[in-house]
Amino acid sequence: MRATVMYGAGDVRVETVPDARLVDPADVVVHVTRAAICGSDLWPYKSMEPDETGRRMGHEFIGVVDAVGSDVHTMKVGDLVLTPFVWSDGTCVFCREGLHTSCLHGGRYGFDGVGGGQGEAVRVPQADGTLVVLPVNRDDALMPSLLTLSDVMATGHHAALSAEVGPGKTVAVVGDGAVGLCGVIGARRLDADRIIILGRHPDRIAIAKEFGATDVVSERGEDAVEHVRELTDGSGAHSVLECVGLDQSTVTALSIARPGGAVGRVGVPQDEAIPDALPVFMENITIAGGRAPARA
Ligand SMILES: [Zn+2]
Repeated sequence: MRATVMYGAGDVRVETVPDARLVDPADVVVHVTRAAICGSDLWPYKSMEPDETGRRMGHEFIGVVDAVGSDVHTMKVGDLVLTPFVWSDGTCVFCREGLHTSCLHGGRYGFDGVGGGQGEAVRVPQADGTLVVLPVNRDDALMPSLLTLSDVMATGHHAALSAEVGPGKTVAVVGDGAVGLCGVIGARRLDADRIIILGRHPDRIAIAKEFGATDVVSERGEDAVEHVRELTDGSGAHSVLECVGLDQSTVTALSIARPGGAVGRVGVPQDEAIPDALPVFMENITIAGGRAPARA
């Protein structure tokens, strides 16, 4: 079968690889019908050291079940299924608490002998605890939207949950990329009163407004902080969604949270430390977030 393999920064090849096949009784093999590229794929695309073995890519996909292990009970050959971006057993202590990303028996696509979603087929371990059977056919008009539930929409929603978005609250979303835009949808679903999007790409801002953003802040750094404060009677936002992961965007996110507010971080941090420890402490600002348990 054919699959994408990344060998280093800027070096992605479509190659013939061994066919995906059942290894464990809890596995299924999925024939991939839709797959996406993640923002997190862009970091190795920019910076991966050359590697002769290469790395199989892709962790967001929808497909048709091709083969079912003897210990799989919730799906059959021919079912259309969606995967969250990691696999999980669905039964361990963390899965039962809804934190499937910390599954004791889970793992990541593209590692430990499991292939990636950017290929013709994938062996999915722990299929019962991982895959979700979709009640539509493979050409349904909703397919592009359903594919976002693999990662980006779940991640935006997780940012909103982590930032404690709720009725009556003012929300600020830092970042107008795909995750930030899904964060706007998440904030609206959780009944935010007001949603301020921080971003400067006119096409994306237009989408953010369509999704429910009520205010736009297009400045950066100190000017952005000042603008958000002007919009919030000087106090800042109750809930801030950090959807970038850079030091500057994190400083901005922490600076626009009001005292007692919460920041939900879902941008993969590109720095070791969280900045502004003292002001965040003095104002009782909660810092939460992390990898989204998309399966939950
Ligand atoms: Zn588990």
